[in-house]
Amino acid sequence: MATIFTKIINREIPADIVYEDENLIAFKDINPQAPIHILVVTKKEIPTINDISPEDRVLIGEAYLTLAKIAKDLGVAENGYRVITNCNSYGGQEVFHLHFHLLAGKPLGPMLS
Ligand code: IMP
Repeated sequence: MATIFTKIINREIPADIVYEDENLIAFKDINPQAPIHILVVTKKEIPTINDISPEDRVLIGEAYLTLAKIAKDLGVAENGYRVITNCNSYGGQEVFHLHFHLLAGKPLGPMLS
């Protein structure tokens, strides 16, 4: 089902886009949880991690390569950063369209409980 991220992909609503290719789009999170908070989103509408299929293995690899590229381009690769994907209710997922949070720009401390 189409989500708000599909509307961003289709340019139906605005976003601060930092990267785009055939399969992925990356834009700034509207409610940043760190000085740098980017969402890398698959253009394919995959609702959750649970819905990733074997045919998506290249796409998921591309997503991680893109996360690392964005981190490098933003100058945060050396200090470090965190990548998070939330899944379903207990994971705190709000938008059911596969995405990876890239958080950086300060020491992030221990993982949340
Ligand atoms: P989730 O909880 O892992 O699904 O994360 C969804 C994220 O999308 C949250 O961090 C929101 O702040 C972010 N978000 C929701 N709507 C928009 C938008 O229109 N532009 C950018 N980020 C958004």
